[in-house]
Formats: sequence, C-alpha cells, structure tokens
Amino acid sequence: MRYQISLLSIFAAIAVFLSGCGRGQLHKETRLLMGTYVEVISYDARAPKIAFAEINRIEMLLSKYRADSEISRLNSEGKCRVSRETYDLLSRCVEFSRLSSGAFDITVEPLVRVWGFKDRNFRVPDAAEISAILPSVGSEKIIFHPADNMIEFSVKGMGVDLGGAGKGYAIELAARKLKQSGINDFLINAGGQIRCMGKGPGGLPWRVAVKNPREAGTVNNLQINGGSISTSGDYEQFFIYGNNEKRRYSHIIDPRSGYPADSGVASVTVYSPDGLTADMLSTAICVLGKEKGEALFEHFPACRIEDLEYIPKQEGRSTKED
Ligand code: FAD
Repeated sequence: MRYQISLLSIFAAIAVFLSGCGRGQLHKETRLLMGTYVEVISYDARAPKIAFAEINRIEMLLSKYRADSEISRLNSEGKCRVSRETYDLLSRCVEFSRLSSGAFDITVEPLVRVWGFKDRNFRVPDAAEISAILPSVGSEKIIFHPADNMIEFSVKGMGVDLGGAGKGYAIELAARKLKQSGINDFLINAGGQIRCMGKGPGGLPWRVAVKNPREAGTVNNLQINGGSISTSGDYEQFFIYGNNEKRRYSHIIDPRSGYPADSGVASVTVYSPDGLTADMLSTAICVLGKEKGEALFEHFPACRIEDLEYIPKQEGRSTKED
C-alpha cells in the first residue's frame, strides 16, 4: 500500500464539492453539535432532522462537557452502571487501544486536561506533573463488569475522553438511522469526520475537497463511494509555546509519554467503511507516525490512508496562536 502523510496541515475545512445537481433539490442543514458544526446534505428533506436527533442523543450519552452524560458520571464517580451502548463502545475503544499499542487511548482525559485542551488554558506542565498523572492513564486499568454493564476505574484519578472516537461513532449511527428511514443518498460532515452513502449531485459519487490552509486555493478532491473519512492533525487545536525555540503542541496526546504527539505527522486523512474506525485510526496515526501507523492497517484491511498530495514540510510552520 502506497501512501504519503502530508507533513503540513492540508485541512482547514472540508468543503463539500457539489458538482451540479440533476437529481432534484439538495437539502443542506447545519447545526452546532459536539462542539462542532455538523452539516447534513441529502435529496431527502427528512435527512437533517433524523441525523441531528441521533447525533444529539449520542452527545447526551458521551459528552465529557455535559455533567449529566454517562461519561461524566463515570469520570466523577469512578465506577458506574452505563447503557449497553456506552459499555460496548468503551469495549471497542479499549480493544482498539490494544491494537494500536496504546497510541489511541480513551483514558487520556487527565493528560488532555493538564495541557489545557479542555478549558483552553493552555500550559506546558512540568515533567513531575506528567509523571504523577501517567499511573492513571491506560485502558487496561478500566474494569468491565459484563453482568450489569458496570464500568470501573481501577486507579484513582482516571478519566475517559471520547474526543477521538465519539464523532465518528455518532455519524455512523446517524447514517444507520438514515438508511433505516429509506434514505440512501446523503453526506454528514461533523467537523472533518465525513460519512456518506449513495450518490451525490448528478448521480455521481460524493466528492469532498480537502483545503490546504497554507496555500489558498490548493485542494485535494477526494471521491468517496460510500463510507467514512476522518482527518486528524495538529492544526485545528494546538498552541505554540516557547521563548527561543517556539514549539507547536497538538491536542493529540501520546498516552504513553504524556506529551502531545510529535511523530512528524501534522495531518492524516483515513478512509474506513465505518465512522468509528476511521476516527480512531486517524488519531492513532498522529501518535504512531508513518511506519507504525502503516502496520496498524494489517488489522483493518478495508481501511486506507488517503493518498493526498504530498506537501513538503516547510520550516517555521505557521505560528497561528489558538
Ligand atoms: P481527533 O483526532 O479525532 O481526536 C482528538 C481528540 O481526542 C482530542 O481533542 C482529545 O479529546 C482526544 N485525544 C487526544 N489524544 C488522544 C489519544 N492518544 N487517544 C484517544 N483520544 C485522544 N468540544 C467542545 O469544545 N465543546 C463541546 O461541548 C464538545 N462536546 C463534545 C461531545 C462529544 C460526544 C464529542 C465526541 C466531542 C465533543 N467535543 C466538544 C469535541 C472534542 O472535545 C474534541 O475537540 C473533538 O472530538 C476533536 O475531534 P478531532 O476530529 O478534531 O480530533
């Protein structure tokens, strides 16, 4: 499998590339959900309402930003009974963590917090702070009680963050609801997580344009014949810090070291038949880097890294302050 990982951010916003119509009117609606603008496009006017309702339901279950969600209850109590749906999702995330040698790990929450990515008070914690947190990170420290859907943290201070899986999961379930409603041509875009099915305008496959923010007008058109693409990188949520040598700190953290990913991958776009796998894969590859990221695909033969145009790394990357 040939693929290249762009060492520069090539993604600011995926613009759905609508190549003319020809099949009735396209309905397009956008709503703020899961902290991002979610866009639903379909020829069936019912699609947005159906998709938004399902994504909203998932947000209620999984959001660490909502005190009443199952995830927030688990994070505050350290042990709680959850719905079978949340139980199964966390099991899948833990299994993926094992396959990715811990590069993807939902127990990264205390690290995301200490770097300031939850409250936007960005800071560089000292090494002692990081070492004090690391014993409470690691999916293998989550205890699952299948008899009663109880989830338990075995170490004090543990927390779960579904930022790397929840959007992909939510759009996958929304796609399922649309299919169950007999809607087979649609595209859902949740802040760069795309899930589409059937045909786009003019009966052609859906096409999305991945914009390169550093070169206005430079786009990579991706044609998607159904399925999901997910883009992860260090260009949307990051901060730049340092007196002499400025350094970019990404919101994607290496759970094994406790530091933001520094694998040389600034952005990667992954295809998968389903949204959850695409979401977890793109996050994991930002931590693993090119070689180890490629090895991960042995477990996911139906997935691939989209071969986007390679843009040589330029020194002194943008110092856009977040
Ligand atoms: P991805 O690469 O898909 O994931 C990166 C995110 O995953 C990080 O932001 C962090 O949350 C987490 N993460 C970091 N490192 C790892 C790792 N090694 N392994 C696993 N996960 C990691 N944002 C808001 O500002 N307000 C909200 O109210 C809000 N609600 C949300 C509700 C839900 C259900 C979900 C899923 C997300 C919500 N978010 C919200 C967004 C969330 O905080 C992240 O910013 C977002 O999911 C990042 O998605 P991404 O595709 O940019 O990055």
